[in-house]
Amino acid sequence: MRRSSLSKHRDTTINKITLKLFRRYPTPADYLAAAPEEIEQDIHKSGFFRQKTKSIRAVCEHLIERFNGVTPTTMAEMLTLPGIGRKTAIVVLGDGMGIAEGITIDVHNLRVTARLGLSTQKLADKMEKEMLELVDKRHWLKWGQWITWHGRRVCNAKRPKCNECLLIDLCPIGQSLIVNLNNGFDD
Ligand code: SF4
Repeated sequence: MRRSSLSKHRDTTINKITLKLFRRYPTPADYLAAAPEEIEQDIHKSGFFRQKTKSIRAVCEHLIERFNGVTPTTMAEMLTLPGIGRKTAIVVLGDGMGIAEGITIDVHNLRVTARLGLSTQKLADKMEKEMLELVDKRHWLKWGQWITWHGRRVCNAKRPKCNECLLIDLCPIGQSLIVNLNNGFDD
């Protein structure tokens, strides 16, 4: 199976698992009331299910002890949850609650943002800082997703489809391709 098909397959599997989980365990207390083996069985197909079960239970315990079972609404509070990093916090706050606290930078963002000449940073946290300056706050919630989907569908890692790309006029790489093509016609 090709890498992109594998990734789609993994996304589909995770979506099926989470849908079932959210229905079966609507609150943190429900996860803690269940036997760990039961949760392991529910998330078995996602891989590393024992470690993930421990992490889920640890987050739920923290949510109950510190936040009365309610998901916090600030970045600072989110980062106190065990195993929750900035990227997860941005997604939960942004997609779950519509609160813009940052821009998600995944591997697609690192690649596409660099190709577009918007940042030369190689590390996600440094690139995010630059993008937060560059992107209007009203677009923070969607920006990471826009770039991710563009990276998945058009600006692929190995073979970017520059000839189909809507951003070609804005992209240094796309522009250099056009110049090369024109030079080729001149020969
Ligand atoms: S023109 Fe090519 S390199 Fe530039 S963003 Fe589009 S697909 Fe990516």
